[in-house]
Amino acid sequence: MEKVYSWLRTGLDWLLPLHCRLCGEQVAWELELCPGCYRDLPWLKTACRRCAEPLPAEPQTLLCGRCLRRPPPFDRVIAPLHFAPPVDGLIHAYKFHGDLAAGRLLANLLAAATTASRPELLLPVPLHARRLRQRGVNQSLELARQLSRQRRLPLADRLLVRCRDTPPQRLLPASERRANVRGAFALRGPLSARHVAVLDDVMTTGQTMMEICRLLRRAGAARIEVWVVARA
Ligand SMILES: [Zn+2]
Ligand SMILES: [Zn+2]
Repeated sequence: MEKVYSWLRTGLDWLLPLHCRLCGEQVAWELELCPGCYRDLPWLKTACRRCAEPLPAEPQTLLCGRCLRRPPPFDRVIAPLHFAPPVDGLIHAYKFHGDLAAGRLLANLLAAATTASRPELLLPVPLHARRLRQRGVNQSLELARQLSRQRRLPLADRLLVRCRDTPPQRLLPASERRANVRGAFALRGPLSARHVAVLDDVMTTGQTMMEICRLLRRAGAARIEVWVVARA
């Protein structure tokens, strides 16, 4: 009897209404955000067309000064949100506390923002083997897995590797970040896709992404997109 009850409970859990992750209100859709909280997310509305750096409203140019001076090694960054509350909290919960529901929500937001694009291959930003052992999961890979399933896009989870363990970029001043990741990545085989998307949760100065994209460019990628949930 108890077994049947627990089975019934499990069955019912699927039918129970979902609740908004941020305010607790019941929601009728799979996103786990109520319409109000969804609307109030820190959407990135005006940003550089190339690197998604936030720009003031009604910018005079479509590109930021940095991209105008020196075009980055990627074609485009897709970032639906600012790295600001409550998005920063969700990313933190996912990345450092293993909050899988937060990860699912972030992946859904990224999937919705990238529907117009159809790369041949998704490449998550890799963690070094030692860091992966410490943390248990690579949050970029988990995001990529969910997007790969939802969007039916091929995922390369072992092609791109981090061959050098580097201090986390967020702990370094901007001026040291490029040198920190130089030569830190490698490809373990030929890149067969021409149009690729590199995935991560957040992009700050973009030095890690640029290092990876330079590598992909040298390996023959013709169109490189960067997909991140949030832009700092
Ligand atoms: Zn809500
Ligand atoms: Zn830019």
